[in-house]
Amino acid sequence: MANDPYGWLDKSLQTLHRADWYRTPRTLHGRPGPSMTVDGGRSLLNFASNDYLGLAGDERLIAAAVAATHTYGTGSTGSRLLTGQRPLHRELERAIATFKQTEDAIVFSSGYLANLGSIAALVGPRDLVFSDRYNHSSLKNGARLSGATVAEYRHNDMADLAVQLADKRTNYRRCLIVTDSVFSMDGDLCPLLELLKLATVHGTMLMVDEAHGTGVLGATGAGCAEHFGCAGREFIQMGTLSKALGSLGGYIAGSAVLVDYLRNRAASWIYTTAPTPADMAAALEAIAIVQREPERRARLWQNVAQLKSGLAATGIPTLPSESPILCIECPGPTAALTRANKLQAAGIFAPAVRPPTVPTSRIRLTLSASHTPEQIQQLLEVLQAAFGSERRDRQPVDRCLS
Ligand SMILES: *Cc1c(COP(=O)(O)O)cnc(C)c1O
Repeated sequence: MANDPYGWLDKSLQTLHRADWYRTPRTLHGRPGPSMTVDGGRSLLNFASNDYLGLAGDERLIAAAVAATHTYGTGSTGSRLLTGQRPLHRELERAIATFKQTEDAIVFSSGYLANLGSIAALVGPRDLVFSDRYNHSSLKNGARLSGATVAEYRHNDMADLAVQLADKRTNYRRCLIVTDSVFSMDGDLCPLLELLKLATVHGTMLMVDEAHGTGVLGATGAGCAEHFGCAGREFIQMGTLSKALGSLGGYIAGSAVLVDYLRNRAASWIYTTAPTPADMAAALEAIAIVQREPERRARLWQNVAQLKSGLAATGIPTLPSESPILCIECPGPTAALTRANKLQAAGIFAPAVRPPTVPTSRIRLTLSASHTPEQIQQLLEVLQAAFGSERRDRQPVDRCLS
């Protein structure tokens, strides 16, 4: 028989298995909440979700999605420029713009598509993208897709970025700096004020991915931009509807001309079906709740403070964090998997995050406003029992800022 053209697939999977990089999805049952049934087993305490404010299972979001479905049906039936737009799409975009203090916003079908489509529309082969080494996959792939030259700078290292800007910027037409605001797999924040300064000095655009900042950071939950007091400044604010907002979709918020341009040039917006009325209505309701109920954010940050001080007391090594994302360092992918299994056996659901997603293996914990102090105490006791014996000398964890 001739050489099997698909034979490499199985070999490639075997390589993943050998490296302990292999992954499979788990099935969770019921509505999102602080405890969930995973893979049909017993109920586990859920420290793995991006539902930071506990809105994904909120009755009001569900009612809004159901009402929108009754009014407009399940599918949007076409792309935004043809038959896909309903009043809800523009209503949501206006609400995002008001929330983010920008002139306008554009909603994509996912955050990933927002990053792919907007970066590829903003820069091209004559241009330069500076990308933080720890950026989310969607930012990295957007930069790749654009055909621009991509220069990575060391994680949050403004001195490295400044040197590279001075060295390379003038050789290119347009330039774009892209960064996560809250680093999704680490939990630390980008130095937004320094980034804005460098962007101004070198005449470059700046795009900040607020996937994990929106609803979480800032006095009104508007994100890292609000947290650092620069929400009104001109830069490109990207975010997702799929995390604290409990829905599905992504957006770019910025100047009216930027949004108008993207409506005409972002292929991942133009050539895909508009997001569903249900998703738009749920996100609209979520934005209203985020602004109306700051107590949810206050509870979330109380939970973060409780977990951080508890972890500091145990001496378990964690990565620096200023967000509800807290990572426990592991010596390698095998150790991370063993630890995740140990936690699961003790009733805690928290994933082992391993290469190639991140450079170093870790257990990633995320907190929600819906966790109770007792549940966080339970997590701390399990962590202490599972990891306490493995403690080693470590640097103090950065203090929480919000
Ligand atoms: C989750 C995430 C995205 C993608 O958003 P989706 O709406 O899930 O597609 C983009 N950037 C970052 C930093 C993320 O964490």
